[in-house]
Amino acid sequence: MMSYWERESFFKNIDVAIIGSGIVGLNAAISLKEQHPALKIVLLDRGVLPIGASTRNAGFACFGSMTELLDDLEEHGESEVLQLVEKRWKGLLRLRERVGDRHLEYEPKGGFEIFKADESKRYEWCLDRMNWMNKQLAPIIETHDIFSKADHLIDKFQFGEVKHLIRNQAEGQINTGKMMRSLLKLAQSLAIDIFNGFDVDRVEEDTTFVEIISKNNWRIKANKVLIANNGFASQLCDLPDVLPARNQVLITEPIEDLPFTGTFHYDSGYFYFRNVGKRILLGGGRHLAKATEQTDEFGTSQQIKTALQNLLKEVILPNHKTEIDMWWSGILGVGEQKKPIIKFISPNVMVAVRLGGMGVAIGSLVGEEAASLLMQK
Ligand SMILES: Cc1cc2nc3c(=O)[nH]c(=O)nc-3n(C[C@H](O)[C@H](O)[C@H](O)COP(=O)(O)OP(=O)(O)OC[C@H]3O[C@@H](n4cnc5c(N)ncnc54)[C@H](O)[C@@H]3O)c2cc1C
Repeated sequence: MMSYWERESFFKNIDVAIIGSGIVGLNAAISLKEQHPALKIVLLDRGVLPIGASTRNAGFACFGSMTELLDDLEEHGESEVLQLVEKRWKGLLRLRERVGDRHLEYEPKGGFEIFKADESKRYEWCLDRMNWMNKQLAPIIETHDIFSKADHLIDKFQFGEVKHLIRNQAEGQINTGKMMRSLLKLAQSLAIDIFNGFDVDRVEEDTTFVEIISKNNWRIKANKVLIANNGFASQLCDLPDVLPARNQVLITEPIEDLPFTGTFHYDSGYFYFRNVGKRILLGGGRHLAKATEQTDEFGTSQQIKTALQNLLKEVILPNHKTEIDMWWSGILGVGEQKKPIIKFISPNVMVAVRLGGMGVAIGSLVGEEAASLLMQK
């Protein structure tokens, strides 16, 4: 139970409580405070840091590789896919504006999709649609010829088993840790209280207020609540179309004479790698064990670790001796639909979840949109 002092000094007269201080929660809080400076806003997170996906991702500032977009077109249709590309691109611009390229260590190095010999058909499929895709994306990204053939770089990059490369000139990379530090600092500078170690058990709406009850039975009241816990959504609300998906990641020790820089997608984006200075960050592979990776438990599995290590040794850096510095995992929120869910689940409780693998790109706008809808009521 909390003390009288704790209740009076920290948790009284809360206008908006936000559960989850990842990219979405932080952006929602910052937007609310910018629009309504008098509001008392608190961010509650159960982690020492906001550990879900926002401090654990790969830092691709991207809006989709060719195969990802073409696959999406088949499943979701043209207008939905183009809308999502626009949201990703505008979201990245918003993030860069809010945090600043210097603080993000934003680097527009370009991105690539790699194709092995057994993927020639998929590569040809991309080539057939490349002009069409470039025309569709040009007005959104305000750049012509976004995707182009880049086979001439394969030798320079020293990849093994790679037959084709497609370049995306509008893709960039950021420093994920610095982005989150900057957003946390910005929230603190706006007098938003951030409470870590607050593990929410449930949220109950009364006729006059919403009560948030923690696992250790601390009870706080707020006028409105935003749940922004992404892959952990089903722990707090009934949202059957938000499933957790674990993603495992490794980073190597620095590599002398690293032959490439940039962001790379492979196997429809299920694998991804990039340089972080002289290191390689490599992650993904959850499609190899869909059932076991549909979990909100952090951790690694030998099957996926082996797949990532093989990819590193055989395809990415076949000519280099590499040492792995560390492994980690993060939890995505995914579903049948790629669009995030932003909606009220009771009169004063809203959710903004299911960011998939694109929260760096769309998180700022999702937070902003949730903030504005929350205050419209
Ligand atoms: C390995 C990996 C690589 C990725 N790479 C990229 C990329 O390159 N580019 C890109 O655009 N996107 C990428 N993503 C996706 C992106 O990171 C996410 O979409 C985004 O961070 C989601 O942000 P969020 O704020 O919605 O959720 P999260 O960052 O997951 O935040 C949710 C927060 O809720 C808290 N929480 C959960 N339950 C509770 C509770 N009961 N009580 C209190 N707090 C709670 C958690 O502690 C967490 O801090 C990647 C994700 C992963 C995992």
